[in-house]
Amino acid sequence: MRRIPSLMSSRLEAVLRPWRGRPLHSLARVAFSWWASQCPPSDEPAAASRHGDRDGRVFLVGAGSGDVELLTLKAARLLREADAVVYDRLVGDEILALIPAGRERYYVGKSRGHHSVAQAEIGALLVRLAGEGKRVVRLKGGDPGVFGRMGEELATLDGAGIGREIVPGITAASAACASMGIPLTDRGHAQQLRLITAQQCREGGEPDWPALARRDETLVFYMGLSRVAPICRGLRGAGLPDDWPIMLVANASLPEQEALVGTLADMPERLAAHPLPSPCLIIVGSVVRLAEVRRLVDSEVMHAIEAHREDADIYH
Ligand code: SAH
Repeated sequence: MRRIPSLMSSRLEAVLRPWRGRPLHSLARVAFSWWASQCPPSDEPAAASRHGDRDGRVFLVGAGSGDVELLTLKAARLLREADAVVYDRLVGDEILALIPAGRERYYVGKSRGHHSVAQAEIGALLVRLAGEGKRVVRLKGGDPGVFGRMGEELATLDGAGIGREIVPGITAASAACASMGIPLTDRGHAQQLRLITAQQCREGGEPDWPALARRDETLVFYMGLSRVAPICRGLRGAGLPDDWPIMLVANASLPEQEALVGTLADMPERLAAHPLPSPCLIIVGSVVRLAEVRRLVDSEVMHAIEAHREDADIYH
């Protein structure tokens, strides 16, 4: 049992809370992740003796949306126990720091200007590693079952007779709404939730705009940063009002998170004036109004605090 690191984690967080958002906080968390990765779990055999006569197995694991603390306990344990980790672009350094030194790592994501490793090659790599008797963690950003091409990998593993297990993760939609302080669904706003890939909005493929243009639903578009204008146009064309709320959240759950809140009519212009980086999520629906209300409330609270401070300065 490894109680110390998790205990230390909460202590460390308590100590660092006042520093949250400052450079020292990130630095200390990276240092902590590294330290945690250096302590092998006491009830686990050493890496070298772990495989051999044992059957290999692949764990398709969600890494969550970026914040290392949004990783599940199960994912963290599997990372510590893995013989090999095969990971994607959206998996951050703090999470990779949990992999003990000396374990095999394979990066199969897209690098700047290059294509990602072909899906067939990833499948072949997983089959080879598991065939060598290794415990393999296939680590994907967010939830592996949400636009993560997990289906192809499952089919390859099943075809090769390799044992596998799925470990869900926190998908970007949950993380983005949580960090903006709003629910994904709210009974006064949305009774349905739809996760949509904006990739189908590319040349040739068009989403069914009339089916998406509902007022009782929250729409979340993944992979849509370059498709904001067509999405706004499509939804307005299908009957949603010009002032219907839309929100863009980039780097959700990370310290560098940025968001734009606006309407279907003005969001393309807002984005042009304030470009956001990738990864970015597009959330459409009246729940977004709650983010706007929250922002106003927060700024009023800030005004009140400032005013109070100024009053205090006058009298002291
Ligand atoms: N399996 C992932 C999604 C992979 S598709 C999940 O469940 O979250 C990649 C898309 O996910 C990106 O183009 C972006 O739209 C979204 N995404 C992933 N991480 C994100 C983050 N931290 N902030 C905003 N969007 C994110």
